[in-house]
Amino acid sequence: MVKTVCVYCAASAKANQEYLSAAEELGKYLSKHNVHCVYGGGHVGLMGSLADSMIKHNGEITGIIPRFMQEENWNHKGLKNLIVTETMHERKARMASMSDAAIALPGGCGTMEELLEIITWKQLGLYPKPIIIVNIEGYFNPLIEMLKKAIEEKFMKAEHAIMWQVVSLPDQVLAAIENESKWEYNTLNFAVI
Ligand code: AMP
Repeated sequence: MVKTVCVYCAASAKANQEYLSAAEELGKYLSKHNVHCVYGGGHVGLMGSLADSMIKHNGEITGIIPRFMQEENWNHKGLKNLIVTETMHERKARMASMSDAAIALPGGCGTMEELLEIITWKQLGLYPKPIIIVNIEGYFNPLIEMLKKAIEEKFMKAEHAIMWQVVSLPDQVLAAIENESKWEYNTLNFAVI
């Protein structure tokens, strides 16, 4: 059973309620299943909804935030565990090293960058762990299409499409993580196009 997941998601509080509710549901679901959640440490948007829900349901949650964001007071004040890093890169490396799987909820550039980076790391064998895209309201369809396009245009191999799984709802995340066959492609040969 997976112990710790990292969750990438939006800082925007202006996002549609369906997205904010999905973050809340994921927090409730992870708490109920005793899964430790590591996330970006923010207090607004989907990040805020996720953290509020984890705290409300007595779940274990750790925020990892770079110092410049903490100095702007962007961190969630209700967290028992907050790790402050010197850089954004260090933050993402800590989120990856602490987690057994990565989950992406809808978000903007920050979320997409985190998702694409972790897929890249998986391709290179640096993150041989499940990556789950929670495709609320089909939000990620264009990005998934773009990844398919990259395969069609031979920027990636067809086999690379097994690096990510797409689910529609937060309560499908743990089954997807458990069902993932062991990542056997963590050799650099797999990365070669
Ligand atoms: P975005 O999807 O552009 O809203 O960016 C969200 C991602 O970027 C999160 O997973 C965080 O790692 C980081 N991030 C962006 N804005 C903030 C913020 N206000 N507070 C904390 N983290 C943030």
